[in-house]
Amino acid sequence: MREKTGDADARDGPGYTASEPSGPGEPGSGPGFAVCLTHDVDRPYKTYQGLYYAAKSNPGYHLRTLLRRENPYWQFEDIMALERDLGVRSSFYFLNEPSLLETGSLSDWLEPKNWVEHLGRYDLDSASIADAVRDLDGGGWEVGIHGSFRSCDDFDRLRTETRELEAILGHELVGGRQHHLKLGPNTWRYHRELGLKYDASPGSSSEHGFQHGYRPFRPFDDDFVVFPLTLMEVSLPDPGSAFDEAWAECERLLDEAEANDAVMTVLWHPRYFNEDEFPGYRRLYRRIVERALDRGAWVGPVADYYREFLAERDSSDSDDAGDDSDGRATDNATTDNATAGGSNYSLSPGRIRHRRSVSAP
Ligand SMILES: [Zn+2]
Repeated sequence: MREKTGDADARDGPGYTASEPSGPGEPGSGPGFAVCLTHDVDRPYKTYQGLYYAAKSNPGYHLRTLLRRENPYWQFEDIMALERDLGVRSSFYFLNEPSLLETGSLSDWLEPKNWVEHLGRYDLDSASIADAVRDLDGGGWEVGIHGSFRSCDDFDRLRTETRELEAILGHELVGGRQHHLKLGPNTWRYHRELGLKYDASPGSSSEHGFQHGYRPFRPFDDDFVVFPLTLMEVSLPDPGSAFDEAWAECERLLDEAEANDAVMTVLWHPRYFNEDEFPGYRRLYRRIVERALDRGAWVGPVADYYREFLAERDSSDSDDAGDDSDGRATDNATTDNATAGGSNYSLSPGRIRHRRSVSAP
């Protein structure tokens, strides 16, 4: 029995409530039914965090993979091959988490969950990661920012992470998603100030569905767009033991997306493509993409969708209320559930479907 891991529920952090999509900030209709494919690159190396997993389950397997030279979580080439075979591309969001040695407090060190996060962290500028970033970019995949846990409330940290990734990439980023889906009251203002065009954070690791809307929305009524997350792999029944049940959930989401011309955004963490540790997930991902293509959906990276269907809008009518003189966001999120990520876009309760609880490590 292996560990189920994933990002925490977005609603642990930001002060907003779930939504219906329509409203003053909703962009144009786009291509209709679409599926955006995304991968949050949290832990591409299985290192000492294997000890943590070993202590919890199947110690033989985890200790063996820890000692072997091969790295079961390094899935970039496999995912590229799979998606190339399917004729699609996707978005990879890279994390630039500061080391616990740099930022950790004593209480951080005492929490075993943090050991997993920090022992599994990677250096963006290491040769192998930088090569992966450039290979993805050169092959038509999107490289985006996966803002670190505390960056949602720390403009300078988010700027450092964004600029470092852009330096490796050699060009500007289009957008990304926050680690643990964690948004602060001003995170979207920070994104916009940094020149990012979209965020794909609002969502949940425990519920899949369109509770945040069928389409991307414009929280500031300008060219900055938010893509709600429809499905994270950990919210599904375990496809290793209940593939048909997991697929039924996916098919239901595809049905709903197609019927509503929705933009369905899917997150598969790269390590879930390792069939030894996460059986069934790779096959399930492939089937989602194949069926979406069969149904005529637009399928691709979030940045491609943005550029093709959303970027033409003139941003001169943007609402900058709340920014101070140097463009840095100020905290105007003082009213209950009034704002999301720094916008004045009020999200109202919508449908909550297919609830399923999972525990994060
Ligand atoms: Zn993450």
